[in-house]
Amino acid sequence: MKTVHEKERDIPVLAETDVLVAGSGPAGLAAAIAAKRSGADTLLMERYGCFGGVISQVGVEGFAWYRHENTVEAGGLAKEFEQTFVRIAGSNPESQSQSQALDAEMFKYAADLMISEAGVRPLLHSTVSAAIVEDGVIKGVIAESKSGRFAVLAKRVIDCTGDADVAALAGAPFSKAPKDKLMSVTTLFHCKGVDTARFKDYIKNDLKPTYKDWGGCWSITTSGKEDDLFSPYFERPFVEAIQEGIVPKEERVSLGGTWSSITDEGEVTQLNVVFIGGVDCTDVEDLTRAEIAGRRNAMRSVEILRKKVPGFERAKLRNFGMTLGARESRLIRGQYILTGHDVFNQARFEDSVAIFPEFIDGREWLILPLTGRYYQIPYRALVPQQVDNLLAAGRCISGEPLSHTSFRNMACCVATGQAAGTAAACSLKAGVSTANADVRQVQEALAAQGVRFT
Ligand SMILES: Cc1cc2nc3c(=O)[nH]c(=O)nc-3n(C[C@H](O)[C@H](O)[C@H](O)COP(=O)(O)OP(=O)(O)OC[C@H]3O[C@@H](n4cnc5c(N)ncnc54)[C@H](O)[C@@H]3O)c2cc1C
Repeated sequence: MKTVHEKERDIPVLAETDVLVAGSGPAGLAAAIAAKRSGADTLLMERYGCFGGVISQVGVEGFAWYRHENTVEAGGLAKEFEQTFVRIAGSNPESQSQSQALDAEMFKYAADLMISEAGVRPLLHSTVSAAIVEDGVIKGVIAESKSGRFAVLAKRVIDCTGDADVAALAGAPFSKAPKDKLMSVTTLFHCKGVDTARFKDYIKNDLKPTYKDWGGCWSITTSGKEDDLFSPYFERPFVEAIQEGIVPKEERVSLGGTWSSITDEGEVTQLNVVFIGGVDCTDVEDLTRAEIAGRRNAMRSVEILRKKVPGFERAKLRNFGMTLGARESRLIRGQYILTGHDVFNQARFEDSVAIFPEFIDGREWLILPLTGRYYQIPYRALVPQQVDNLLAAGRCISGEPLSHTSFRNMACCVATGQAAGTAAACSLKAGVSTANADVRQVQEALAAQGVRFT
């Protein structure tokens, strides 16, 4: 590739802080709030104009769509967030679980309130573009913004960018599946103007969707116990349209999937029906291609729904997510790599800092936590190799592609975020680095916050 030489220059320091959290999705919000509540001066940096990550930027509303009567969870901030979201941001019953679907737009406002109530210093429109590392220890980051380049110096940095941007920039090792094996990306959209009575009647009397139906356009293995449960899933109208030639094969797009809720205002939300394969969401040209293909196929999907699904005849697009939804990219190589075997076999660890139910969604698996089974997540999975005072939380923690299909879920990202924020603050108080944090102290602090990690 042709290159140009960038001249060396001095960069202004915009802020100095105890803990810098980069990225404000479920993991970043939790990490920042936990670090601040644990006594550390905390700054939360986000590349877009709103906090909330995939919730507010992509439009994902199903914070806990896996939850059934016997599901065992971590509690802590995940529980508190859900109650706060519902109170401030509003919600509708999530159709397949004992949970609420968040209002993704209102979530932008709810996240502002949560951050300001916690006393976290907010910084929007700032993209981390370099890491400041001295002798294997991270000292802060350099970010790009409308004010130009600036630095934030920090005693601890938590990478909650989803893509492990900070870890990668800092030179910490990471893994990334080959492009063809990464989970698909999705342009989510929401529809308005739906005759919801007719749509509900179609669901009840004609579609009658269950998790068994997921085997049609996706290849899925369940444990059997999921098969006959209701799932808000449709593919028949899309399969028919694809057979009619509506999507050219070379676009590598599959259509068909789920919706989230049906509102009294005639909306059907979180239409998660456009899946684009072969996209590396750390490659700007892939992202550009996928954004455009995603919108094209979302509009094709609206057309299909209008033609083929009762109740959608006069429906219109309400909005696209403000950006493409990416499910998988870099995973840090941590001191421990959480395996698929761990997730499927209720792994237990002495240094556990979070638990998550046995919920697996992706890579041809769908397992719902109907029986109370759960696994633990060790602190070591948040600690990258080679760079100290840096932690990761959320979907980029250290794991295999198969375990990622479980820990990528939002409530689990909150749990690892809360653990990372708490650990960063504990390590500061104790005057040790994050790699040398006393996990017992972190566990005690998490227990005091009402987190279940055993
Ligand atoms: C289409 C789709 C549907 C999904 N459905 C569900 C579902 O129903 N339920 C569920 O639990 N999970 C679902 N998931 C998965 C889940 O939403 C994500 O795995 C989860 O949000 C990851 O949380 P996170 O905090 O790690 O990262 P994200 O939510 O991705 O947040 C990362 C944040 O970091 C910011 N950022 C990125 N790079 C930088 C940078 N260099 N500098 C500064 N900021 C940066 C981003 O703008 C973003 O705000 C879905 C995902 C997708 C894409």
